[in-house]
Amino acid sequence: MNCRVMFRSVFRCIRTNPVAGQRSMSQSSLAGKVAIVTASTDGIGLAAAQALGKRGAHVVVSSRRQANVNKAVTLLQSQSIQVTGTTCNVGKGEDREKLVQMTLDQCGGIDILVSNAAVNPFFGNIMDSTEDIWDKILSVNVKSAFLMTKLVVPHMEKRGGGNVVFVSSVAGYQPMQALGPYSVSKTALLGLTRALAPELAHSNIRVNCVAPGVIKTRFSSALWGNEDVMDEFKRQLSIKRVGEPEEVGGVIAFLCSEEASYITGETITVTGGIGCRL
Ligand code: NAP
Repeated sequence: MNCRVMFRSVFRCIRTNPVAGQRSMSQSSLAGKVAIVTASTDGIGLAAAQALGKRGAHVVVSSRRQANVNKAVTLLQSQSIQVTGTTCNVGKGEDREKLVQMTLDQCGGIDILVSNAAVNPFFGNIMDSTEDIWDKILSVNVKSAFLMTKLVVPHMEKRGGGNVVFVSSVAGYQPMQALGPYSVSKTALLGLTRALAPELAHSNIRVNCVAPGVIKTRFSSALWGNEDVMDEFKRQLSIKRVGEPEEVGGVIAFLCSEEASYITGETITVTGGIGCRL
């Protein structure tokens, strides 16, 4: 087939089947949805809020510091994204409840939860880590992810379904040296995803997870800011560069869209090709 004939047949197909193009638009649209993204004033959380907001969702951003919340709200508003912001330290029960109640009061319901918050207060040999460190890491990185889910599920059920996405890490598959307790907490999120998915499928709620590799944010600056560490990392990467937060945000928005309607209990690795599973 020469080029002219090929173009003519493609245009004829679009003219006679105009719905085909529109269908994929509406499948990725999140218009009318309300999305809570925790720890969303910077980095991957902010990029997830942007990606969800650009697809039409009303996003609720939060983090511990009011100044960071204000900055994120201003940025998202400047991009014509519908946004509400509040402070929330996910490690505190009263803050989690305030975040959910404020979302219900101001947005009328909840369809999406992106549980993104994590801390890492410890670098070193795992045998030197203390009970306090384990309590802090497991409380923020794992327990609060579950407790946020438990708080929002009844409201998703009222809307007829929803989506939960956890943010794990490549370290959840292969523990990173000097980041033992953090890595274990990220492995727990892979398990939490798989434990919740069958139970919440009955309520038409999908539960998925993303496992980023090294992404250029403040959290990981000790990795990408160190040439020796990065040289070592690059040996494992197929795409020989650090990832950008937007490259994770887009995958999160995909998982929350109708295009992912048959995906649940899954973790998508966003690592530039680090081999971390079969
Ligand atoms: P980041 O750019 O440093 O942003 C962290 C965000 O979390 C900020 O908005 C911060 O704002 C907020 N935050 C911190 N502690 C919080 C808490 N207890 N409660 C609520 N908000 C809190 O970090 P990031 O790299 O995007 O990390 C986001 C997630 O990606 C984490 O789960 C991390 O484990 C995961 N991850 C990151 C990478 C990477 O290479 N960057 C790789 C794998 C996985 P405030 O200071 O105002 O609270």
